[in-house]
Amino acid sequence: MIIMKFGGTSVGGVERIQAAARLVKERFDRNPVVVTSAMSKITDLLIRGARLAVKRDPDSENVLREIRARHDRTVSELFPDGPMRERLTAHLALVLEELRTLYTGVGYLEELTSRSLDAISAVGERISCEILAAALTQNGVRAEAVDSRGLLVTDESFGKANPDMEETTRRARLKLLPIIETGGVPVLGGFIGATPQGVTTTLGRGGSDWTAAIFGAALNADEIQIWTDVDGMMTVDPRIVPRARVIPEVSADEAAELAYFGAKVLHPATIKPAIEKGIPVRILSSINPASKGTIVSGRPAAGSDGPCAIALKKGITIVLVSQPKMLMAHGFLARVFEVFDHHRTSVDLIATSEVSVSLTIDDPKPIPAVTADLSRLGEVRVLREMAIVSLVGRGFFRHAGLAGRLFHALREVNVTMISFGASDVNISFVVEERDAERAICTLHREFFEQERP
Ligand code: ASP
Ligand code: MG
Repeated sequence: MIIMKFGGTSVGGVERIQAAARLVKERFDRNPVVVTSAMSKITDLLIRGARLAVKRDPDSENVLREIRARHDRTVSELFPDGPMRERLTAHLALVLEELRTLYTGVGYLEELTSRSLDAISAVGERISCEILAAALTQNGVRAEAVDSRGLLVTDESFGKANPDMEETTRRARLKLLPIIETGGVPVLGGFIGATPQGVTTTLGRGGSDWTAAIFGAALNADEIQIWTDVDGMMTVDPRIVPRARVIPEVSADEAAELAYFGAKVLHPATIKPAIEKGIPVRILSSINPASKGTIVSGRPAAGSDGPCAIALKKGITIVLVSQPKMLMAHGFLARVFEVFDHHRTSVDLIATSEVSVSLTIDDPKPIPAVTADLSRLGEVRVLREMAIVSLVGRGFFRHAGLAGRLFHALREVNVTMISFGASDVNISFVVEERDAERAICTLHREFFEQERP
């Protein structure tokens, strides 16, 4: 059994929906369970409408109209007539009537709680799963739309609810296995769930991947496929380095490193339920299905160590604290970190010497307050407009000469700070922002555009 999850762009219009249906049909012999996002931009629209509705701004009517028109158009193009068209039209009318009531309700109350917002933002997935199931049926697959809110049980943390894995597993098996065993394909909306009392919740924006992992873990799937609009995770940002390549396989740790640097393809925390159970997660492109994609696994193939990607994060600030009198004294670092803790500022890279410490932070807001406090501990310098460049991979501690190759490649670039040794999946260094793109081009050439010696 496999989970096939389609992101918003992969069900964003008639052609995409038909392509998704074909992809599922082609994998019918693997017993697919389908999880879908709302059509692209629909969740944004639902939330925008809610924010207008709470102010009783008549523009919320326009948003409602846009949501209706987008779905109406999709349904009528997919199903020119017949019972499927009627069923979908009726479902659409029902759900959108409910949406209108919700908008009116928050307007009356002049209050948009996260509980109401969840009920509102769940509308997109409640519709998309019905449309995709109908498209599959039209393709000769016996698909059944299942309302995830009946299966995915969560706590009451509206807006970012946490699944109750035990109860969800029980319900998912009870409801979905009979469908699969009789040759059907369940189609579930991602992102949405409900409390044990049946109150609608959501897992947070982009939560459909999490849904896929939750059901994958609940049903012990062989594989979870995340169908999206990119070929997979890339060795580097292709907008900066056109010779970027798809990474065939990453470990969960590497995926986590890359996520910090804004690799938006997949957030590793969301696939944790799958990784913990040893279920591989494959990122695939619904636009270019021939591409093998990237596989994220808890246990990557042996012998596949080495660098897998280069990541870049701009807008970094270095804070440097030095205190010569602290020579050999203990407690200095503890006091420095107390300051960051006090201001709830997270620190990314650290380098220390006997009498000084350099740290990077990526949120500029707390810097004035942090530096004011730090200046009681020593002399403080702040370097702005810096960038972190990271070589991400695995097994770095075993790779003799890796750092040598890295710094040889970077001999023309001024490196301000280096961090290596905290884990064997990452070597990071800081350069000035204006040097960053040149640095990652050079590194990509060194590590990914030539045969390894
Ligand atoms: N539709 C939801 C969102 O846009 C969930 C998802 O797409 O993963 O955030
Ligand atoms: Mg989405």
